Amino acid sequence: MKLRFQPYELQLKHAFTLATSSRTTTPVMLVELEYDGLIGYGEASMPPYLGESHETVARFLSKVDLSGFNDPFRMDEILGYIDGIELENRAAKASVDIALHDLVGKIMQQPWYKIWGLDPGRTPYTSFTIGIDTHDMVVEKTKEAAGFKVLKVKMGRENDKEMIETIRSVTDVPLCVDVNQGWTDRQMALDMIYWLKEKGIVFVEQPMPKEQIDDMAWLTAHSPLPTIADEAFQRIHNIPGFKDVYTGINIKLMKSTGMREAKKMVDVARALDMKVMLGCMTETSCAISAASQLSPLVDWADLDGALLISNDIFDGMKVIDGKVTLNDRPGIGVVKI
Ligand code: MG
Repeated sequence: MKLRFQPYELQLKHAFTLATSSRTTTPVMLVELEYDGLIGYGEASMPPYLGESHETVARFLSKVDLSGFNDPFRMDEILGYIDGIELENRAAKASVDIALHDLVGKIMQQPWYKIWGLDPGRTPYTSFTIGIDTHDMVVEKTKEAAGFKVLKVKMGRENDKEMIETIRSVTDVPLCVDVNQGWTDRQMALDMIYWLKEKGIVFVEQPMPKEQIDDMAWLTAHSPLPTIADEAFQRIHNIPGFKDVYTGINIKLMKSTGMREAKKMVDVARALDMKVMLGCMTETSCAISAASQLSPLVDWADLDGALLISNDIFDGMKVIDGKVTLNDRPGIGVVKI
């Protein structure tokens, strides 16, 4: 198996503004894994707050030596080796994991949702994110998002209620809210969640800083809406500690080191009776389509990453009438365009 990688810069259609930062591009690394005339595609996305960059991912991938592996089907062995190269570098690991899944699916001539035995009719709607912006821009972005059945709103700033009211002046679709750790006072957070419930919000993602575990457990116990761990949560071993702290978890391939662990995460969360959301970074249709293979298993999807960029170079999963729509192509279901 031969591994190749190439840096690429995603151009965002709108500046991406969170409670703590704002940016217009996202660096990604595009990966190809070649074996027996077939090519598996993978991708690492590196939003700056995760601490990875073109340099760190290139350094990691340069250390990968697959010459000792002659059978792509021995995925546990191969990906166990990848995971052991460094402690962190989760996005870099995900790029190899995705490429290997794509390759193995292509050898089997089947998409992964079929290999996993999942019903493509059970995919969820995906939310579409309305970033923090001026009143007029929020109205415009909300109108542009008319085809989506669920919208996601970034909160955690002073004008939080205004954002919701502005979106509600345009549409009545269900909303989910991502606070990105922006609320530090638990009583204020609870009051806010009661207010949000009246406004038709479905769940609240990472309402408080990840370190405030006791406050978060109190909030979840009292909250009329589900709470979802995102920034608090990276790998599968974190999940049991979240029982009774959050209602559910947000799984992203760039945190889970790829599809293999993400699938196991769903199983662990279900065993703990927790909700599951499937999210993404800004990514091309490569990593988004890889995540989508799992989507028939989850409660909520937030897979709008490829729709937020203007220079996608893959054709893959489509959002049709707001719903994640899988295709019949083998592997992760993408072709390069
Ligand atoms: Mg989030």
